[in-house]
Amino acid sequence: MKYDVVIGLEIHAELSSKSKVFCQCAQQFGGEQNTRCCPRCSAMPGTLPLLNRTAVEYAVIAGLCLNCDINAFSAFDRKNYFYPDLPKAYQISQFFYPICTDGCVDIGSKTVRVNRIHIEEDAGKLIHDEYAGISLADYNRCGVPLIEIVTEPDMTCADEAIAFVEAVASRLRYAEVCDAKMEEGSIRCDVNISLKPEGSDVLGTRAEIKNLNSLKSISRAIEYEIKRQSDLLDRGERIIQETRRFNDNNGRTLSMRSKEEAHDYRYFPEPDIPAIMFDRTQIESIAAKIPMLPEQRLKIYVEEYGVSEVEAKIILTKKEYSDFFNAAVAEYPNYKSTSNLIVVEVFRLINDNGCDGDFKFTPQSLAKLIKMLDEDIITKAAQKTILSVMFERGGDPETIAKDMGLVIVNDSEGVANAIKEVIDANPKAVGEYRSGQEKVFGFLMGQVARKVGKSATPALVREMLLKALK
Ligand code: ADP
Ligand code: MG
Ligand code: ZN
Repeated sequence: MKYDVVIGLEIHAELSSKSKVFCQCAQQFGGEQNTRCCPRCSAMPGTLPLLNRTAVEYAVIAGLCLNCDINAFSAFDRKNYFYPDLPKAYQISQFFYPICTDGCVDIGSKTVRVNRIHIEEDAGKLIHDEYAGISLADYNRCGVPLIEIVTEPDMTCADEAIAFVEAVASRLRYAEVCDAKMEEGSIRCDVNISLKPEGSDVLGTRAEIKNLNSLKSISRAIEYEIKRQSDLLDRGERIIQETRRFNDNNGRTLSMRSKEEAHDYRYFPEPDIPAIMFDRTQIESIAAKIPMLPEQRLKIYVEEYGVSEVEAKIILTKKEYSDFFNAAVAEYPNYKSTSNLIVVEVFRLINDNGCDGDFKFTPQSLAKLIKMLDEDIITKAAQKTILSVMFERGGDPETIAKDMGLVIVNDSEGVANAIKEVIDANPKAVGEYRSGQEKVFGFLMGQVARKVGKSATPALVREMLLKALK
């Protein structure tokens, strides 16, 4: 039988505020275990949460980036469960009144609706030492601010799910509210997936695959589930609603718990944190801080700057590159040459030599280098050479050009002498040209250019020769 695949995602994203969400401990990836903990985030009796204003602001920014409504009223709730990675025995989350609702993200082929975004705290990490038969708890991650982005079940294949995760990650990175490094767990994804008979309006029973931490595993888990569920349905069996885990080693998903065994979280309003209230002006002032997002930049690059879509998308893969490009063209607006030089030459240098993210040269010096070629101060080949020096150790392109003897001299006296010699030595060719055989010009031009060498640009040689032949 043929089935339609239905996918909804829940994405957890760590907000990049300097401190945790309910205490002032620093939050960073890695570090010695249990060194970024205090009585609050390790849940000592009598401590109270203190809401981090920046984390709330970042959640609002994330909501705006995903076209959500920012709710004038939102509040926290307790989600009760005991597991040793969560010393309070409850997680503070938002259940009844999330901060953002009703968003949407365009992924090219379609628009995926976002049901809600809520703020919550991350749990710690357990390290299971099977050899010693013990489990160790690291509470550094306890209380790291998270947002959970919940979509409507609008996706229908692995590619769409991945396009959605990539679009969200890119927007959060551009807005600088989450570094969205899947390999460090700063975004993680739960995939809800079900099948229904082709064309049916009724949703099938879904499985939820928890905690996928790479695009590759999202895609593999979806493919595996499509196969597993369609095999069951083909055999006339029933899909049970359950939570599953993906095993990266064998590419399979495995049942963790069924709906019957699901936790009853006994949500209730968190009594220790006041509700969050926003008015329109506060939201507008937060919105004003959001840097331009990749979609808008793409439109400007292609429609206003005339950059090809392929090059524009390459530049947009990282906000750093896009900002660099913007600063360079602000200095000297040759958009096409700038994008081309970055995409072809700078990326080649990055590929060959690696790059830790920071360039040793400034956008201003790149702009100057482009201008030098446009003004015939250097040749195209010299531009490449100078760029590789700038990439390696920075510096001013004009100084580098002078030091390396790459400046075109444009010695017009030398050119005049060379022209005279060539005209004197080739009376027949000159005569032919003057009697209208313009093809001979190339030959004469070649003669002069050979004598002139690198001391003048072809443009100057051509101009002076034309004049002399009149
Ligand atoms: P829960 O709170 O139990 O996780 P939700 O109704 O909030 O359930 O849904 C969680 C996610 O599951 C959402 O992303 C939603 O789009 C998705 N989802 C819900 N029903 C289905 C279904 N039948 N098939 C696929 N995804 C679904
Ligand atoms: Mg869920
Ligand atoms: Zn703390």
